[in-house]
Formats: sequence, structure tokens, C-alpha cells
Amino acid sequence: MWAIAAAATRNADAVEARSTGTAHPAPVSSPSTALAATPTPVPTPSFDRGAYSIDDPASIWVVVNKSRALNPVDAVPPDLVQPPVPNINGQPVRKAVSDALAALFAAAKSEAGLDLTLQSGYRSYDTQVSVYDEDVAANGQVYADTDTARPGHSEHQTGLAVDISAASGRCSLDACFGQTDEGRWLAANAWRFGFLLRYPQDKVAVTGFTYEPWHFRYVGVPLATELHETGVTTLEEYFGVPGGESYPG
Ligand code: ZN
Repeated sequence: MWAIAAAATRNADAVEARSTGTAHPAPVSSPSTALAATPTPVPTPSFDRGAYSIDDPASIWVVVNKSRALNPVDAVPPDLVQPPVPNINGQPVRKAVSDALAALFAAAKSEAGLDLTLQSGYRSYDTQVSVYDEDVAANGQVYADTDTARPGHSEHQTGLAVDISAASGRCSLDACFGQTDEGRWLAANAWRFGFLLRYPQDKVAVTGFTYEPWHFRYVGVPLATELHETGVTTLEEYFGVPGGESYPG
């Protein structure tokens, strides 16, 4: 969902499939099912799926995709702040995201010796108009719609989405970021800090966007943990709401 990533994401299909959500035990297991097919993830009954709105643009659970625009379409998030981390584009994020990012980056450093940098955070409706129009002008609308959200349909407009890079810049905003130490660490650990790898390689038809191993969506620790423990990797599947690769109408 970033115009400069356009050329890079074209190569997404050339990258080997990356396994996700397999680092934890299956929700249900017994000796007799050890050789059975992968169980269907079952949401935890005790988890309150209605704790936050998925429609309110100010909710940390808001679900935005090609089928679900922000309402109002030019919504501006509350409590935008500058996060205390290296920030290439200088874009703010919501306060809760800022706190979580600081903890995430500190853990990457202390646990794995990895230096991360924030590439992008909040983008306004007007900025998204520019980003999208530039992508359409450069690549045509059909292609632009695969990697840049139309205004009102971008998670970056919520102030809850971040694009993260290695401080080295290696594979920045490129599918190969998923194969770097930084990309692997984030994929395995971001949930602990309330972040979801929002556009998995095997869920393009669900999310509507190409694989973006650098794009993380803050949903808070309880929901991120629930998703991690159940093995459900998209908000669309967890909440049972439409997504997909086409815009309505
Ligand atoms: Zn992004």
C-alpha cells in the first residue's frame, strides 16, 4: 500500500511461500489426531469479539479493506503523536501504536540485536489521493488497485498501520523483506506487541492486497494474541466480514 513499493511488489510471486502461524500448538490435539489434517482454527469461545467496534474509524479493531471504506471516508484519527523511534517519513501514529512500536523496536534490539526503522505511519485522506493517483498514472488503475489502496480504503489513514524496515534498508518495502532477519523476527514476534502482519502471502484473495511483510496493523495485544493462538491470520476471516480484491461498484 505504498506507491514506491509498486515495482518491488511485482516480484512477490517469485518469493517462496513463507509459513505463518505454525509456531504454536494446534488448538486441539490428542494422540489419535496427530496424523490428521491441519485442524480448522477455532476462535476462543471466551474471547469477546464484540469488545471493540470494527466499523468506528477510531476503534483499534476497525476493519478497512477494498469492500469496507472508512466512514466517513475522510476520517482523521484521534491522538496522533510522533513515535520515539527512527522514522524515515516522519509520519505520526496513534498514541497506543507509538507506545507499542517503542516496545517492539526495543525488543528487536535486546532480544535479537536487530535495528528497525519506521518507514510510514499515518497518511491522510488527501495524501492517499495523491499516492493513489500517482500509482494510477505510473502503472494504470488495474495494477494500482493491487498495491495502493484507494482513498478511504487505506489502513494507513487509521493511524494504526505501520510500514517497518530494517535500519540497513535491506529489502525495504520489498517482498524479500520477509526473508531477512528483521522480517522473520517481526513475523514471529509482532503479535506480542499488538501488531498483525496484515497482508500474508497466502491470503491475497482475502485481504485484497499483495504480500507485504513490512506492513503491520496495530490491533492491541488481546486481539493479536487471540489471532496468534487460533492461527487465524486475517481480520476478514476472524470477524467474518467481506474483503477481496475488487472494489464494489
Ligand atoms: Zn503499509
